[in-house]
Amino acid sequence: MNEPLILTGTGVSKTFRLSTHRDQAKILTALDDVTLQLASGESLGIAGESGCGKSTLAKIMAGLMKPDLGIVAYKGTSLTELPRDEQLRFRRSVQMIFQDPFSSLNPRMRIGDSISEPLGIAGMSADRRHQELIRIMNAVGLDADFSNRFPDEFSGGQRQRIGIARALAANPEILIADEPVSSLDISIQAQIINLLLQMKNDYNLTMMIISHNLMVLRHICSRIIIMYLGVVVENAPAAGLFLRCRHPYTEALLAAIPGLGNRQNPGARLLNDDLPSPVAIPSGCRFHPRCRHAIEICRHEVPPLSEHATDHSAACHLSKQLYG
Ligand code: SF4
Repeated sequence: MNEPLILTGTGVSKTFRLSTHRDQAKILTALDDVTLQLASGESLGIAGESGCGKSTLAKIMAGLMKPDLGIVAYKGTSLTELPRDEQLRFRRSVQMIFQDPFSSLNPRMRIGDSISEPLGIAGMSADRRHQELIRIMNAVGLDADFSNRFPDEFSGGQRQRIGIARALAANPEILIADEPVSSLDISIQAQIINLLLQMKNDYNLTMMIISHNLMVLRHICSRIIIMYLGVVVENAPAAGLFLRCRHPYTEALLAAIPGLGNRQNPGARLLNDDLPSPVAIPSGCRFHPRCRHAIEICRHEVPPLSEHATDHSAACHLSKQLYG
């Protein structure tokens, strides 16, 4: 990674209290000591099953939620220590794209007004704003004549284009997309993925994409982090992960991909059970109740995240024995 780091999270932890009854309060651990780095121009993918903490991580990295512990830093300065004008700059610099763009759009606002809202906040004149609106709508493949329509007049794919256009209007450096295509038909997913890639190149963006779909991440991302029950279990270049993963959880995720199956690890098994509850995290290696390779040490000793190949780390006691 030779580019400067633009956004980092160090030791990020987050819990939620599930009940207000004092005696029955349950603590849900969403993130536990997560460290990640986003280099300028990089596209980082975050994968894992629902409930692994990836959406919480996205919100914390975007500054929309505070961690209980740990530091999120923008260009080397903790978000909590950014001067006020820099905080405003950070908010504009980091834009989010959500799984359901409809819920993030005002249903009573014409989409032209929604998209150009950030331009107005930036102080652009009405004429310039109109020109920019047309340029951005064309860039994301929306007919500028649609600007007078309301969100409910658009298809799911078009709404996601509106969400991307609105994010681009803020002239961001970093785009954080949380499951940007999972609610779309397969045929539309490819269009939106290609649009994100094109926007990344055209606008020189740094991207963090959250998805449970590893094939989506493989297409967009240069690096992929695999999360399991609030921790990072593998962090690798996308190509290296698909060539030779180094964690049994990743092995199981890859085995579930149609057409890819267990080619990489012939004995790999699919995960047929649910993720354990994040209010009752298993001891030792969190994955041990579902791991086909688990041995005694896995039940009581937490495996550290350590580098097993250049730029490729995994948190598994047996990574070297299993994957070389
Ligand atoms: Fe499986 Fe043990 Fe590795 Fe955890 S540490 S993934 S249980 S082999």
